[in-house]
Amino acid sequence: MKLNIPRSAVAVIDTLRQNGYEAYAVGGCVRDVLLGREPSDWDVTTSARPEAIMEIFTERDGFHAIPTGIALGTVTVVSGGVPVEVTTYRIDGEYTDNRHPDSVEFTDNLAADLARRDFTVNAMAYSPERGLVDEYGGARDLEAGVIRCVGDARERFFEDALRIMRALRFSAQLGFDIEKDTADAARELAQTLENIAKERITAELSKLLLGRDAAKVLRIHADILLHILPMLDKASILSAGERISRVCDASLPLMLAALLADASDGDVREFFSRLRFDNKTARTAKSILAHKNAPICDKIHVKRLCRDVGADTAAQVIALKRAMGENTEAMSGYLRESLDGGECYSLSQLHIDGRELLSLGYESITLGKVLDELLEAVISGKLRNDKNELIKAASAARRKDK
Ligand code: ATP
Ligand code: MG
Repeated sequence: MKLNIPRSAVAVIDTLRQNGYEAYAVGGCVRDVLLGREPSDWDVTTSARPEAIMEIFTERDGFHAIPTGIALGTVTVVSGGVPVEVTTYRIDGEYTDNRHPDSVEFTDNLAADLARRDFTVNAMAYSPERGLVDEYGGARDLEAGVIRCVGDARERFFEDALRIMRALRFSAQLGFDIEKDTADAARELAQTLENIAKERITAELSKLLLGRDAAKVLRIHADILLHILPMLDKASILSAGERISRVCDASLPLMLAALLADASDGDVREFFSRLRFDNKTARTAKSILAHKNAPICDKIHVKRLCRDVGADTAAQVIALKRAMGENTEAMSGYLRESLDGGECYSLSQLHIDGRELLSLGYESITLGKVLDELLEAVISGKLRNDKNELIKAASAARRKDK
């Protein structure tokens, strides 16, 4: 079997081999290539020890070696500009904290390295010389669309509870089912998710929500998700599944808003303080939620919404309303017409600015308020967005003030 591996990764594998070591592309990248998906990163597993990897790729033309995780055996080799994570074959030691092995042990045995990997579909290796190495039935599970632990599922989830979230995330991303014994073990050990760093939970939850089968995973695995979302109840996770099934082409903020649409304000606050989303994502999601009940009955409403949250977020407010079961056809029409027609909804589009108001004799502390009033008059159609008309209105208001 010949797989389509990019030159950058092949160059790393070949160079290691020429130096007398075994080397394979491994894990998610092999899985994704077999599925015809674009891998998000390239991993190579090798019999070479970290010091040898550093030596081979330092000062060699076309490569650059960075010791990113030497203790665990990982060197990032930048090959033709593409980063490839090169890791020594390893066996993980005992786990006592449901997340980190207490130690790692390097090995010369590829099968042992594959055995430490989480799921069969993630435990395949490939090299152009040796072809596919599939010790645990990964290709069969890939074909059947199944997520199954390598080895005993309870042990594997007990070692590292993040794998529970990874199972749900891959199920959502790939549209795969979680095999029964693996799913039972995930449910039994779900409580150990509490020992996992919030950053990692957040990263997995984000990928899950953006996956094509997110709605189904929410519905089937609500009980597990309750352990990372204790501020929600099962009914609201199930209804989130319904909403999410009505969203297409979504951004993360919209998915979060769909997840939280029937949570109380306090629960939304708790969600964002417990998990670790970047500020922009959290701000946008909250902003979508804050406007989810705003009526949008005409173009004036839609332009006010655009003024308050921006046009992109306004589109997502409408998408959330749709997910919540509202008929949003007319709303989308108002938004499209306003944007296509270049209609004014923001101060930056208004054909008058602060400097011009100053020259009419306004004081700087009142400028913001006057501009807001002029914008509102334009949005609601009382004034045209025309410089002379705006200046006339501003002058008249000024005279009245005096
Ligand atoms: P993605 O598409 O998100 O990159 P991935 O499967 O490649 O998914 P990575 O985090 O890049 O995930 O990890 C690469 C490989 O390392 C995995 O495919 C798997 O073989 C192994 N791996 C990663 N995390 C774990 C874990 N928590 N337990 C066991 N093996 C893991
Ligand atoms: Mg990967």
